[in-house]
Amino acid sequence: MLMRIGGQETEAAGGTWLDVINPATGEVLDRAPAGEREDVDAAVAAAEHAAAGWEKVSPRERGKILFHAAGAIREARGDLARTLTREQGKPLAEAVDEVRGCANVLEFYASVSGCLSGDFIRLGAAGDGIVVREPLGVCGAIIPWNMPVILMGWKAGPALLAGNTLVLKPSSTTPLTTLAIAAILERAGLPPGVLNIVTGTGDAAGQAIVTHPGIHKVSFTGNTATGIAVRRAAAPLLKEVTVELGGSDPMIVWKDADLPKAVEGAVHGRFYNAGQVCNAVKRVYVHEEIAPRFTGELLARVRSLRVGDGLSPSVEMGPLQNRAQLDRVEAQVARLRERGEGRILAGGSRLRGPEHDRGFFYAPTLVADPDPDAAILGEEVFGPVLPVMAVPDLDTAIAEANRSRYGLGASVWTRDLGVARAVFDRARAGVVWVNRHLTVPPEIPFGGVKESGLGRENGVQAIAGWTRAKSLLLGW
Ligand code: NAD
Repeated sequence: MLMRIGGQETEAAGGTWLDVINPATGEVLDRAPAGEREDVDAAVAAAEHAAAGWEKVSPRERGKILFHAAGAIREARGDLARTLTREQGKPLAEAVDEVRGCANVLEFYASVSGCLSGDFIRLGAAGDGIVVREPLGVCGAIIPWNMPVILMGWKAGPALLAGNTLVLKPSSTTPLTTLAIAAILERAGLPPGVLNIVTGTGDAAGQAIVTHPGIHKVSFTGNTATGIAVRRAAAPLLKEVTVELGGSDPMIVWKDADLPKAVEGAVHGRFYNAGQVCNAVKRVYVHEEIAPRFTGELLARVRSLRVGDGLSPSVEMGPLQNRAQLDRVEAQVARLRERGEGRILAGGSRLRGPEHDRGFFYAPTLVADPDPDAAILGEEVFGPVLPVMAVPDLDTAIAEANRSRYGLGASVWTRDLGVARAVFDRARAGVVWVNRHLTVPPEIPFGGVKESGLGRENGVQAIAGWTRAKSLLLGW
């Protein structure tokens, strides 16, 4: 597949390519250009050329284009979801979910086009002040491989509505659905050059975006170490860089919780997308009175999960997205085993057999009562591994939940409003769920504290991040 610059499908200037691998089979599915600095230069030139015209389009008209694109994406969801499953690995039902989610985000931003407003301030004898929010111009967006379609929507929706033009880089392992959606946006009326997709690696195309003087803001989603490196590289240019990073979300299951609902919440929260979600449930703290029953029911569910090629309708969990990620998860669990840091109740290894040998499959894994200092609790485990810890009281649960470098989300499962309120007040996280986890509707701002990042995506609030204030003082 070719990348898209200025409305044209194009190869990389250097003529080199990167293979796109199907993680369920290990086979080469397609290839995408290995874009480099020269390609980013071309994309920035196209985005600059388009910027003056796009800025003058009224927000309502911009919103209409997003709205039409959302309809077309929803119509094409079958094909888009199949492409997404084949390049990313997730089960088809999850891929359809993600494609629909992208359409929902674009529709949401279309629906709030009237919210692009400023302020009027009366200053008495000094006159009046008017503050407008203007677009930043050419912006960059860099996205990871775990949820490429929804994250494209989270960035392109508010950025384009606010009147910016974009140079967006998908992960080198999942460029295909992003390219297909960019083509749909153009067919829906987005002028050429408003959204440019440069494919390529982080070291080449990614760094070129981050250090390009013509790009005024970069919105980055990825792991914490990369996010820090990206901010460091952009610092000499005084470029605004928002970073949405890793997480290690706790789930607190209180003694009065609806148990079947909490068990299903843990399964969905951890094993959705094979555990490769920033705000997945990565640690469970369950009240000791119900811990044996909860863990027993959870174990039965984890053992029953059907793992395989996401294109097969009965599959509940697909492979990990790439070989490096499989190796990383395997090493994290192997270290836990070697150090005796927890009891592995289920899984704990790659899956073998005719259905799994060629792909990047890891068994759904349940770990009981890991050592509180175990490495898998301190670092992000981006795969299907769930540690469960029994806790004696709420103070301990909240203290342990907060004992993390990360602070993206947290959930509490209870019928007791006081318990829910205490967790909401004391959780060091950007989002708190009660009796649910994972869902991020487009209306709700999403982002973390601590090493989970800086900035918020979603909601009308996110639009402000894609604009700058410009003030006018009127003396009468
Ligand atoms: P990653 O940081 O390796 O890569 C993310 C993107 O950055 C890719 O497009 C990559 O090519 C690019 N990149 C890599 N090095 C770069 C560099 N030096 N300069 C510029 N760009 C560079 O992350 P990943 O492994 O693809 O994704 C998984 C991580 O993303 C997890 O930690 C997960 O928690 C996080 N994530 C966070 C959110 C959120 O909203 N907070 C959402 C999804 C994923």
